[in-house]
Amino acid sequence: MSRLLLGHFPRSLLHAPLRRTTSIRTYASATPQFDWQDPLLSKTLLTSEEIAIGETAERYCQERLLPRVLQAYRDENYDPLILREMGELGLLGATIEGYGCAGVSTVAGGLITRAVERVDSGYRSGMSVQSSLVMGGIHEFGPEELKERLLPGMARGEILGAFGLTEPNHGSDPGSMETVARAHPSKKGVYLLSGTKTWITNSPIADVLLVWAKLETTGKIRGFVVERKDCPTGTLETPAIKNKNGLRASITGMIQMEDCPVREENMFPDVEGLKGPFACLNSARYGIALGTMGALEDCISRARNYALERKQFKGNPLAKYQLVQKKLADAITDSIYGTLAAIQVGRLKDEGKATPEMISLIKRQNCDRALHNARVLQEIFGGNAVSDEYGIGRHVANLYVTQTYEGQSDIHSLILGRAITGVQAFA
Ligand SMILES: Cc1cc2nc3c(=O)[nH]c(=O)nc-3n(C[C@H](O)[C@H](O)[C@H](O)COP(=O)(O)OP(=O)(O)OC[C@H]3O[C@@H](n4cnc5c(N)ncnc54)[C@H](O)[C@@H]3O)c2cc1C
Repeated sequence: MSRLLLGHFPRSLLHAPLRRTTSIRTYASATPQFDWQDPLLSKTLLTSEEIAIGETAERYCQERLLPRVLQAYRDENYDPLILREMGELGLLGATIEGYGCAGVSTVAGGLITRAVERVDSGYRSGMSVQSSLVMGGIHEFGPEELKERLLPGMARGEILGAFGLTEPNHGSDPGSMETVARAHPSKKGVYLLSGTKTWITNSPIADVLLVWAKLETTGKIRGFVVERKDCPTGTLETPAIKNKNGLRASITGMIQMEDCPVREENMFPDVEGLKGPFACLNSARYGIALGTMGALEDCISRARNYALERKQFKGNPLAKYQLVQKKLADAITDSIYGTLAAIQVGRLKDEGKATPEMISLIKRQNCDRALHNARVLQEIFGGNAVSDEYGIGRHVANLYVTQTYEGQSDIHSLILGRAITGVQAFA
């Protein structure tokens, strides 16, 4: 039995061992009832194991994360213990096989991100960076010694990771990055990294930082796992970026390196150019696609409750008015379309049939629709939307960031446009 999700919850929550399976759970009912929370019965596309994982992740998030998020957001405070708790439940690097990870399906991994993002996109960001960007990168490209040494501790949330690609002058265009790695002038087998990365989730608390830099000799981008404990004073600084107006429940910072030493064994040996970072981003973007559907579903649920309780004009609930109903109808339509598309791409990914363009398509569409609908649903709350206690404003601010990072939506349009026309429009 995998240790996934057994930490805090009774075994009875789990229907079966958490292994990949192709069996599909079916539902039969004489008189089908419309379920506004799962309008096209997406659950019928999930295996029983995936349902169990999703339910248990939802329960952890609602019981342990939701009560913390309001204060954390106000204080712009991220508690790294959250990653420990997630580690105890097996939520970190969950799709990785071996190295203390659960080895669940891509869709199950997406159900975990959906559960976390239903509470807050910032909590999901901290988890995604750890799981998909850093653990995923080390698992896919790192040498065996690095995998064995780092992945089990990362899976437990004891070793924390950050992913440094974006630079102050190069965000959408990481190929122009300025960070360089040069051979140490006297120590064989050591590289010195110099440069600055910015807007890096988890960087102030990270023990290991997956940094992308150009090798001075070739000009090619390579991945380096910088271990904070090996960096002499003054070679690595990771100051926090404060006063954000989105994703405040996550921690974001810079990575400033000045001749920061990294052992050659910590360089990814076989991957060169943007292929490396883009492969890591591919998995994380999948998690965002299903994750943002969790945030949107929370907005729908909050707006529906509010519309049923709030009365205007002759004591009628707002829910009685057609304009309000249309907002809810639009939102559940986009939410379930996005969920179904993500499940389909997840299945294709596990079958080795998914392309990066498919991931771009669902990342772009789901982030855009989640942000658009969250903004529209916010209107239902009138003036109360401005109070953070209603939660909707926090999702709106967060979803702006999800639309912006890991490829801003317009950049994903260009990726799709290139695939449609064969013509490159980036530069
Ligand atoms: C809270 C937060 C957390 C983040 N976490 C991380 C992290 O952990 N690791 C990391 O590496 N990065 C991270 N990022 C950085 C993020 O990925 C970048 O902000 C993003 O890639 C966009 O880059 P930029 O901000 O430099 O915008 P720019 O590249 O300057 O783009 C600005 C605008 O111009 C548009 N644009 C750019 N080029 C073109 C073009 N050719 N055609 C049409 N439009 C164009 C973009 O779509 C965008 O709308 C994070 C960002 C935030 C805000």
